[in-house]
Amino acid sequence: MNSPAVHHAASPKPVVRQMWGGGPLRRWSLAKTTQTPLGYSRGFVGAYVCDECLAPCEGVYQLREPHKWVCGACKRKLALARGGR
Ligand SMILES: [Zn+2]
Repeated sequence: MNSPAVHHAASPKPVVRQMWGGGPLRRWSLAKTTQTPLGYSRGFVGAYVCDECLAPCEGVYQLREPHKWVCGACKRKLALARGGR
């Protein structure tokens, strides 16, 4: 059995992962992809992902209560839900 090494190309598909304990969610992959163009730690990262609606977005806001990282739309929604005080 001397077959050439075939690498099952580990699909570099981006996954959503938390950047650190209590940190924001972000698209991350082991290999560089169009969705994860930025080198970060031992992989590549792309858009942040909202904790609330799970949609990728340009940036997320950190909320204190509940502790979440959310997009602008969700931040407004949650602020209204709390009575905005
Ligand atoms: Zn959101």
